Amino acid sequence: MTQAIANLNKANTSILQSLKCKECGAEYELKATHVCELCFGPLEVKYNYDVLRQSVSRETIEAGPNSIWRYRQFLPVATDNYIDVGTGMTPLVRSHRLARRLGLNKLYIKNDAVNMPTLSFKDRVVSVALSRARELGFTTVSCASTGNLANSTAAIAAHAGLDCCVFIPSDLEAGKVLGSLIYSPTLMAVKGNYDQVNRLCSEVANTHGWGFVNINLRPYYSEGSKTLGFEVAEQLGWELPDHIVAPLASGSLFTKIYKGFQEFTKVGLVEGKEVRFSGAQAEGCSPIATAFKEGRDFIQPVKPNTIAKSIAIGNPADGVYAVEIAQKTNGNIESVNDTEIIEGIKLLAETEGIFTETAGGTTIAVLKKLVEAGKINPDETTVVYITGNGLKTQEALQGYIGEPLTIEAKLDSFERALERSRTLERLEWQQVLV
Ligand SMILES: *Cc1c(COP(=O)(O)O)cnc(C)c1O
Repeated sequence: MTQAIANLNKANTSILQSLKCKECGAEYELKATHVCELCFGPLEVKYNYDVLRQSVSRETIEAGPNSIWRYRQFLPVATDNYIDVGTGMTPLVRSHRLARRLGLNKLYIKNDAVNMPTLSFKDRVVSVALSRARELGFTTVSCASTGNLANSTAAIAAHAGLDCCVFIPSDLEAGKVLGSLIYSPTLMAVKGNYDQVNRLCSEVANTHGWGFVNINLRPYYSEGSKTLGFEVAEQLGWELPDHIVAPLASGSLFTKIYKGFQEFTKVGLVEGKEVRFSGAQAEGCSPIATAFKEGRDFIQPVKPNTIAKSIAIGNPADGVYAVEIAQKTNGNIESVNDTEIIEGIKLLAETEGIFTETAGGTTIAVLKKLVEAGKINPDETTVVYITGNGLKTQEALQGYIGEPLTIEAKLDSFERALERSRTLERLEWQQVLV
């Protein structure tokens, strides 16, 4: 602990500065704290951009590890003893078939459905939070989660040899539950929704002295999402896109992609550009979309009821900042219903070969809705963020996908089944045509 602080203070004089209140600007030491003592505003990591500019270049980044840690100087760790489990540098795929279907000319998909180690964007934030937790001397880590965060925290804690106790709502999908249990954390399934889980965890954080990645470590955790912005800029050949579409749960990821683009511009790694920010929510939990549509500067909390459980946060901590960014960048925040979410999952799978979970279905469905409303220019370079993997939310697709054709191990059985399926396909087409 003492050693960690000593290292931290050394680093402090260079790039890492302090925790700074987003509301009143008060500054704090870089400890495990997330709320301003003066105004209760959220704390954010502050860097010295003059020093940062001197210490990074496109070349040094390109020569770095093939993971989020190539952006090490932009992340809130004080030493090089970070946890690198290969998180980040996921594919940025140029879309052809989905783009044509939607009528877009320059669409890209940032595919965090294949992020490491647990197949969601949460691996980014947890890699950073646990690296910092270790520097601060924590031996037990924890989180309040809608599923993916628990998976990530359990897996990366196992890798780092940290004790782990994670909290989820008790009604999560089987894949999300198994995806935590396999790493043998203590898993608390709370009878209640995410917002109730989160409230309970705030109390535990006060009494147990654990590192909660999304509570007392939140300023560090949230910085991990900036890498979603950094990677897209680098993968586009050190250029910013014109428009991004991303899902909103707490709103953190959305606001940090924005911060990432700002920082790259500030230190001269890319040319500055007005990037439009559009957000996606599920209708059954859309407090941020509602605030945006009504032009409000506060969030009215809701009780979630949607299949998109991973983004079902009724009282989103960064909702207000997400609304602000969408407004000032001339973007939009839209919501879609559960049927549209399933269609979104299928559309992405059938056109691009990417199987995403309900959050990704939400994002694709919102992308489609925005295009149809004329809110995305076909010639804009548009990046859509796919943040989770479909194998974790299989329940959502029950009854919405085909079945295998079961046959005998004989050629004629195969031929008959093939003929039947082709006839069926023709009939379906005729139905579509009439
Ligand atoms: C957590 C999560 C998000 C969004 O998280 P924020 O709280 O808005 O940062 C998006 N997609 C998936 C799959 C998630 O698990």
